[in-house]
Amino acid sequence: MILRLILGDQLNYQHSWYKEAEQENVFYFMAEMRQETDYTKHHIQKVIGFFLAMRSFSSWLHDRGYNVVYYQLDELKNTQDLVVNLKKLIQEKGITKFEYQLPDEYRLDVQLQEFCSTLSIESNAYDTEHFLTSRTDFADFFAGKKQYIMEYFYRDMRKKYDIMMLTKKDPEGGKWNFDHSNRKKWNGSPDIPLEKNFEKDVTEIVDLLISSGVQTIGNVNTQQFNWPTTRQECLSLLDYFCENLLLCFGDYQDAMHLNEKYLFHSRLSFAMNSKMLHPMEVLSKVIEYWRAHKDEIAISQVEGFVRQILGWREYMRGMYWSQMPNYRSLNKLDNHNKLPGFYWTGDTKMNCLRSSIQQSLDEAYAHHIQRLMVTGNYALLTMVDPDEVDQWYLGIYIDAIEWVEITNTRGMSQFADGGLVATKPYVSSGSYINKMSNYCKSCHYKVSKKHEEDACPFNALYWNFLDEKQGYFKNNQRMSMMLNLLHKMDKEKLHKLKTRANHIIANPDEY
Ligand SMILES: Cc1cc2nc3c(=O)[nH]c(=O)nc-3n(C[C@H](O)[C@H](O)[C@H](O)COP(=O)(O)OP(=O)(O)OC[C@H]3O[C@@H](n4cnc5c(N)ncnc54)[C@H](O)[C@@H]3O)c2cc1C
Ligand code: SF4
Repeated sequence: MILRLILGDQLNYQHSWYKEAEQENVFYFMAEMRQETDYTKHHIQKVIGFFLAMRSFSSWLHDRGYNVVYYQLDELKNTQDLVVNLKKLIQEKGITKFEYQLPDEYRLDVQLQEFCSTLSIESNAYDTEHFLTSRTDFADFFAGKKQYIMEYFYRDMRKKYDIMMLTKKDPEGGKWNFDHSNRKKWNGSPDIPLEKNFEKDVTEIVDLLISSGVQTIGNVNTQQFNWPTTRQECLSLLDYFCENLLLCFGDYQDAMHLNEKYLFHSRLSFAMNSKMLHPMEVLSKVIEYWRAHKDEIAISQVEGFVRQILGWREYMRGMYWSQMPNYRSLNKLDNHNKLPGFYWTGDTKMNCLRSSIQQSLDEAYAHHIQRLMVTGNYALLTMVDPDEVDQWYLGIYIDAIEWVEITNTRGMSQFADGGLVATKPYVSSGSYINKMSNYCKSCHYKVSKKHEEDACPFNALYWNFLDEKQGYFKNNQRMSMMLNLLHKMDKEKLHKLKTRANHIIANPDEY
């Protein structure tokens, strides 16, 4: 008898396990466990999303006639601990072999390796057959190189998988990267199509979480849960993206707007991170749709999307496996402040932060630029300890799984890895936010003012950050222009900016 474990983010419907003809002696095991609901404080929609997706997957296995043991959170046999559950099942079912798919989280990888080393029966680990690179491809690609430049990795992936290539060496459109045309502000047009919603009733699962005492953050409309949790729903969200959003995806990738939470973003990260959708399936569908509509959809819209999945997503996973476990304790800028309380409530007068945080609490979603240039930017400018920043990002987003959360947060956003992911820190004053959004127009603060009482806090914080941290950047070419400006700044002006910045940092609740 074989016991096969399927973790909550291993819902790969196309895995070769499910193509095997002989399944009578196989038990599949899935479990909703406190071990997983409690390792950080998750958004309630994240817990619901994973539980619903796991239940759909288990029903699919069951309908195919497979033996499935599924423990709901309140199942009496469920000890809430992965290892104890497995040990008991092995005994109860007379299991002679244990099989699992390689976890994507270091934490679970270690747990399962240790568990297998204690077993007296045979055990085997399989690939999840989800990613386009192995755990070690990244380290091999960058061996001997000084910097981990994403662009080179991305080009190599394009060639390797023959994605949007004219010849073996030449990219379609004559360029690898159309990033410069991905920076438009959205001013009310073109129209944004209505959201694709799923409107599921999740009352039962919410009741289960409450009665079990699971602590969560954020809000949920129990009658209208809007994330895809079946394979069909994931595929329909992908179709929706191609038919409605791809047309403008690249142009407005970096735009932000008070009334538009999703703009032209796909919302596919949860479907992919849970593995219900395969990244190559997403890329193929999007490229195929573009080829059939080339007269309407520009290459820049598609390349921008392909870069995120073929480039950034695989790059982050490779970075994770090449740097863990050390990565999770990196704090190269020596930041030790606390995360302001308003990150948990949205209660701040700064419009950009209030809107991005409130949206995150309501939807378990913010798009990349809100995460990077609003919440991430503010946390870095106020020199918050990356441990605190990580915990927030790991909990609040429905797509947050450590391999992709920590590399984006600690690396790209907080520069806590000293520049492994990003070549310079992603910090800005209020002017960038003003350029890319309409947040500033109705803000309590004035983005054009620098250190006065009603001045945008980002402005003082920006110069203070550069001044405080300049020692870390003195050899960074990409920072030299801003550091030159800092050094030329009138001393009295700098003093006023720093006084205001220090007040903001010491009294976050006043702002
Ligand atoms: C501080 C911070 C934390 C983040 N945490 C996460 C996280 O926990 N989980 C997560 O999936 N993404 C994370 N990201 C990356 C990115 O913000 C999300 O993938 C994206 O917002 C998801 O929304 P979407 O599906 O609508 O993406 P779209 O804008 O439609 O992009 C398409 C897809 O590209 C991929 N992608 C885009 N950017 C990245 C990136 N930087 N890294 C990896 N994949 C990317 C995603 O799979 C995404 O679904 C984070 C970014 C930052 C700055
Ligand atoms: S003025 Fe400053 S605080 Fe207000 S929305 Fe603009 S950037 Fe944010």
